[in-house]
Amino acid sequence: MQEILDSVTLVSLARASAMFGGFVVALFVLSRLMPGRRLQGVELADGTRITYKLNGLAIFFTVWAAVGVATLGLGHTTLLAVVYDHFWPLLIVANIFAFAMTGVLYLQGRRRWEGSVVGGLFYGTELNPNWLGVDLKMFSYRPSLIGLHLIVASFAYAQYRQHGVVSTPMWLTQIFFFIYLANYFQFEYGMVHTWDVIAERFGWMLVWGDYVLVPFFYSIVGWTLIGRTEPLAPLAVTGLCALFAAGFWLFRGSNQQKHRYKTDRTASIWGRPAETVGGRLLVSGFWGVGRHLNYTGEIMIYFAFTLPAGFGSMSAYLLPLWLTGLLVHRAWRDDRRCRAKYGELWDEYCSRAKFRMVPFIY
Ligand code: NDP
Repeated sequence: MQEILDSVTLVSLARASAMFGGFVVALFVLSRLMPGRRLQGVELADGTRITYKLNGLAIFFTVWAAVGVATLGLGHTTLLAVVYDHFWPLLIVANIFAFAMTGVLYLQGRRRWEGSVVGGLFYGTELNPNWLGVDLKMFSYRPSLIGLHLIVASFAYAQYRQHGVVSTPMWLTQIFFFIYLANYFQFEYGMVHTWDVIAERFGWMLVWGDYVLVPFFYSIVGWTLIGRTEPLAPLAVTGLCALFAAGFWLFRGSNQQKHRYKTDRTASIWGRPAETVGGRLLVSGFWGVGRHLNYTGEIMIYFAFTLPAGFGSMSAYLLPLWLTGLLVHRAWRDDRRCRAKYGELWDEYCSRAKFRMVPFIY
């Protein structure tokens, strides 16, 4: 605790503000200027559609190219340790930013908002606010996830600075995060069909989630990994890679299957034409095995992020346990939503895909 208090000074807060502000502004400018495929979102209540520019993957690699050149080319081997050194000041600055952005968004949308002030602040007043032509909801995933990645990487830089090595457990977590996050941006087009993008207004809940919760809480395993310099047995490495690969296959495979089906009803899944219930619910591929195997796969991925830390400290497991709770609850909520939307069709689907998340168990 004393260490945290010592790291927060006026100077460190000023530096953190410059780092955080510079980072968000740079990503915003890149989002505006870098080329990218254009994709129309779903039809909105007023019949219009938003056109999204999908340049997240190019931005992701631009950031990593800059970090790579500065680290290897310019010889700054401890470059990102600065992020780790400013973790707590950055957390404070990110919170201030999230609350300020919530206020600005509320002011921007309040003329058309008819609900309560608290509701408008918490859930937002507008579905798709944009600044200078950039859709803020889609944009905010970028500082959120690239920020998370930089923080996770900063723990590896800090380990190298402190111990002169980047250990196998640290490498594993770094590689798993890289694949997971690069793949998010590769799949950015699929985001336009997610519940948050289609249906949630942009208020404190999503803003704080993007700018604070995801980067600062999802990186938590890094704290434990810094001091874990002992090697990992080859069998453990193989097991962790298998867990990650299986989780990734379930998570990305099922999301991809649903996306393909939603955008092309004649798509084939696992080499056969997609089978449906009533022409509306996919019952082929993973969606015939379980109703939320994408959630199961994601939970496996988060355990693969964390298990390299061993069992010395349970704090690293807060994230996968929290995500398990969140997704189990979400699966239950989504079932209720789908039953209300699809009625008997949903019951028929449930009789075909009997399990929610784990075949024969749940
Ligand atoms: P899903 O991608 O599973 O979407 C659920 C929706 O898909 C349903 O409401 C329904 O909507 C449609 N659907 C469900 N079953 C079928 C079917 N058999 N055939 C056709 N359509 C179907 O969930 P989310 O949007 O919640 O999550 C998207 C991804 O984001 C997931 O992979 C999840 O793991 C991840 N996620 C990650 C979080 C994190 O913090 N890391 C947090 C939350 C989610 P419709 O009305 O369109 O039919």
